[in-house]
Amino acid sequence: MLDRFTDNARRAIFYARGEAAERGSEEIEADHLLYGVLKTDRALLEKLGISLDGLQKLGSAFAKRDRGRPVSPPGIPLSIESRNAISQSAAVADRQGSPQVGVSQFLAGLLAGAPRLRKTLTDAGANADAIDGAISKIEPAFERQLPAGLEMVTGRFCAGVGYDLHRLEAGRKLMIGGVEIPFDKGSVGHSDGDVLAHAICDALLGAATLGDIGTHFPDTDPKWKGASSLLFLENIVSMLDEHLGMISHIDAVVICERPKLGPHFPAMKRALAKALKIDPAQINLKAKTNEGVDAVGRGEALAAHAVATILQS
Ligand code: MG
Repeated sequence: MLDRFTDNARRAIFYARGEAAERGSEEIEADHLLYGVLKTDRALLEKLGISLDGLQKLGSAFAKRDRGRPVSPPGIPLSIESRNAISQSAAVADRQGSPQVGVSQFLAGLLAGAPRLRKTLTDAGANADAIDGAISKIEPAFERQLPAGLEMVTGRFCAGVGYDLHRLEAGRKLMIGGVEIPFDKGSVGHSDGDVLAHAICDALLGAATLGDIGTHFPDTDPKWKGASSLLFLENIVSMLDEHLGMISHIDAVVICERPKLGPHFPAMKRALAKALKIDPAQINLKAKTNEGVDAVGRGEALAAHAVATILQS
């Protein structure tokens, strides 16, 4: 959802999330987003005719409304109105042929998705003609060309850890990382028993503070019987989208005595990356044996550990 947002547009969401968290709001409302947009772009603020006092007044207006206790920023979802406004911003950029969504497109999207905000702007001192001017004469936003390593990061990195183990039985399919591996045994599970995909699911859910795989895809639900675990990953990507999390990197290790997994890693990375809508280069896979020790070492089971980092706007 945020792939096309410029650093500044993402900074606006970061400010909005911070405001919502500080005020103890249950959701990031369109009002918070508007505040974030104005706080991010001083030039836009001036163009609208809003003073810094006006901006402060706008902030204190919803401070009066949100009276909850401060909450942790990553856990706050976008309201339906906010999600709609973000989609509208992308539509504004599309109409202009703008490759990216900048702060101005974001403002236009907010006013299209939540027209009531026009009054909020005029209450804060904006001139009605200036509002129309600001959203009708928008410069297309183009990606800035920064040297590698100098990209601006807006938000914070969160890490999550995942672990899984499945028993191995003769005559079952062995699915690891979304790929069927030829072997005389396969993992026992309600879904396809993909130990690597399950560990990655838990790592991603952990990074986004969204619970665990058992809560979202319970093995008591017939819907998931025999299901491809790549479906779990696709569902988690939608959840991350809703919570404005972007996957940065995944590292995982699969532990089993046999078969050799290294030759299958390129195919696994491709399958996992496709389900996660990321580049295979963002995934690192490793394999270990258990040195013949314990159930894994005797070939009765296989296990996986994963760590994921996400950038939380
Ligand atoms: Mg499992």
